[in-house]
Amino acid sequence: MSYKVNKEGYYGEFGGAFIPELMYPNIKELQDNYLRIINSKEFKEEFAHLLKDYVGRPSPLYYAERMSEHYNSKIYLKREDLNHTGAHKINNTVGQIILARALGKKRIIAETGAGQHGVATATVCALKGMPCVVYMGRVDVERQAPNVKKMRMLGAKVVTVDSGNKTLKDATNEAMRDWINHPEDTHYIIGSAVGPHPYPDMVTHFQSVISEEMRWQLMEQTGSELPTRVIACVGGGSNAAGAFYHFLDDTKVELIGVEAAGKGIHTKQSAATLAIGRPGVLHSARSYLMQTDDGQITEPYSISAGLDYPGIGPLHSHLYETGRAKYLAATDTEVLKAAFLLTRLEGIIPALESAHALAALDKIKMNPDDVNVVNISGRGDKDMETYLKYFDDEKYQTK
Ligand SMILES: *Cc1c(COP(=O)(O)O)cnc(C)c1O
Repeated sequence: MSYKVNKEGYYGEFGGAFIPELMYPNIKELQDNYLRIINSKEFKEEFAHLLKDYVGRPSPLYYAERMSEHYNSKIYLKREDLNHTGAHKINNTVGQIILARALGKKRIIAETGAGQHGVATATVCALKGMPCVVYMGRVDVERQAPNVKKMRMLGAKVVTVDSGNKTLKDATNEAMRDWINHPEDTHYIIGSAVGPHPYPDMVTHFQSVISEEMRWQLMEQTGSELPTRVIACVGGGSNAAGAFYHFLDDTKVELIGVEAAGKGIHTKQSAATLAIGRPGVLHSARSYLMQTDDGQITEPYSISAGLDYPGIGPLHSHLYETGRAKYLAATDTEVLKAAFLLTRLEGIIPALESAHALAALDKIKMNPDDVNVVNISGRGDKDMETYLKYFDDEKYQTK
């Protein structure tokens, strides 16, 4: 069984490039060139250099002693929260900006929902002195004001999108329109392992540094490169894809993705795509989607803006259908409890997204000798307002 992408951009029956004819030149140029570029010596050297000296990699693999005691099983945390800009997203934007320059592009565009990917893109554009336009729905511009200010300070132009629901899906449509109108000089940096081929493979490649480091860090700390299981939260699926990638063929290693159950998967207020979705085409790829009986995409909901997406990357649909990975869903309440527990036991405030992965520790059976690696995709600074609303409430505290 192969878990890697094939030449046509498919993972099993998922993926592909269902693009409008007008976008064909842009996508074809990427498909024809990305492997040559990312495997070149120049690319590898610059990527390694920026990951080390700019992003701050390798991110530590931290043995969480008090968490391990609490769960009576060994818990290791992969600290993507310590990266520059506070999450794993910078691994991808650093890779894509080097690629864009190798392709001779002069201008960068991106879409953003919560603003985290917009900030990571504006950051690398400042680093390389490239003009940057970020499309963002009006609803998101209003509810994510601090990130809009950061993007502007970094020199990006934030374009407010007023079409449709004025959220991520509409911002993505506008970014695609821009790209179609500027095929020669512009590169579109997509923020997760989603979209037409080659984006899912490209983004997974850039994020796979996470599992590459995990292997040697585990070897150093446990004497084996292989853990019992790896746990990561799943929105579009890029941090999970990166955390799983170098373990895909080691089938003894359990891979567990955690979706956002929101208020519960049966409430219509969730973002648990694999739990309640069906296959279809969104953003130019075939994958599981949240949709109505007649195929309309439904509006997702999660307490964490970064998981609030009605689709999932094609790699995860394939891992789900083949059973190579298991997918759980955590509710907002479970997630808040998990975030407060980590904060009080280890002094680490996780992003709400990452707290979904932590919430899975209450849902799986673990033995005392198991080695569990939880990917902490980002830090919680951006979520303080949400946390403050709940943290005096007994209901969310573990005794
Ligand atoms: C954006 C984001 C996610 C979700 O994106 P994936 O592509 O599924 O990884 C998860 N965690 C954090 C901290 C994020 O910013």
